[in-house]
Formats: sequence, structure tokens, C-alpha cells
Amino acid sequence: MSNEGGLIDQVGLCGSVVELSHPLVKHHLTRLRDEATPAAEFRLLIQRLAAFLSYEATKDLATRPADVQTPLANAAGDAICERIALVPILRAGLGMVDPILNLIPQAEVWHLGIYRDEETAMPVEYYSRFPPDRPPDVALILDPMLATGGSVMAALSALRDWGVSTIKILSVIASRDGLTEVVSRFPSVQVFVCVIDPILNEQKYIVPGLGDAGDRTFNTLPRG
Ligand code: URA
Repeated sequence: MSNEGGLIDQVGLCGSVVELSHPLVKHHLTRLRDEATPAAEFRLLIQRLAAFLSYEATKDLATRPADVQTPLANAAGDAICERIALVPILRAGLGMVDPILNLIPQAEVWHLGIYRDEETAMPVEYYSRFPPDRPPDVALILDPMLATGGSVMAALSALRDWGVSTIKILSVIASRDGLTEVVSRFPSVQVFVCVIDPILNEQKYIVPGLGDAGDRTFNTLPRG
């Protein structure tokens, strides 16, 4: 998994973007994009990709020594010593929570409700319950589709206001334009993506993308 010499250089993004290149990521992403993939499999694929993204995004978590006694001897060990928050953007981000909680069971989950106004394509925040004190050390924003970047930037501002110093974004697919906007406005933030797609259409959907991630996750696609 790396961003060496590839698309990220071509689109002029800085080193704060990591595009995963593992063959398993590409394989599952391809199934995820397929319009014929049913909702149950779609959810499973989002979970697998979220696990890969979080594995990469948590590589630099701080640990402290934590020795344990095995049945045979003392063993030197490590324990994560940072408070970690998962911040899923409702509703599509919910599909990424469980696999990451499986890997980081002690993480806190702080939901953030942001929807995109269909007329203006601007983000509108409708749910946020961050407590006024004790921000976590690290926050992982979960949003499978980084399209214009509007929702993610609203989340970044909310987390900065809360006082979180280390914030990372985990998205399955990002548009090149949205990503460029996010990293230029928030240069200290790291973004982890499975792939960067080239186009945003007039409705601000990512192309080729995968359609509406929320509808495909929750099986609420309009029936023809
Ligand atoms: N949200 C989605 O679910 N899909 C897109 O392509 C863009 C935003």
C-alpha cells in the first residue's frame, strides 16, 4: 500500500494523501462498483475496504510498553495509549464503523449528521453531539465517498473546533477535485483512499464511482 510515483503525483496532491494499491483492495473495489452487486454484498465489501483503510491510517498510533505473563514467561508487549474517535458521517459512514471497531474496540464513536442540499450541493449539518471538553487524541472521519469534499471539510472544521489535533479522513473513493480542495484547505490532514476517480458530474456524483453509497448500503435505491 503506497502512493509512490502514481496518480497522486500526477494530480498534484501532496504527501498527505495515501491511495491504497493492494490487489485485494482493487479486487473488492471492483465488486463494490458493479451495479449488479446486491446490498448485502455491498455492505460486506465496504467493511473489508474500511478495515484496510483503518489498518493503513493507524500505522503511527502511539504505544506504551505493556508486559504480559504468558504461560511460559514474561513477554514484552505494547498497548495503544491514544484516545481514538471514529466519526462516521451519516448515513453512508455508518457502514464503515463496525469493521474498524473490531480492530480498535476501545475507540469512541461520535456520529455527525451532514447532508448535501440537492439544490446547492452544499453541506448542511443536522446532528452533532461533541462534548465541549476532552477531545480525543486522534479522530478518523469515515465517509465512503469524498465527492466535492464539502461534508468532510464541515467535519474537519467541527473537529478542529472541538480541539482534536490529529484528524485523518478515510474514504473508499475520492474525486480528484474534492481531494485537491480538502488538502489545500486542510494541509495538515491525512487522507486515506482506495482510489481517486477523475470526474464529478453535474449532480456532484463521482464518475465512474459507485452511485449513491448510502442507498446501496441501506438498500434504499429508488425502484424503477
Ligand atoms: N455520495 C455518494 O454516495 N456518491 C457519490 O458519487 C457522491 C456522493
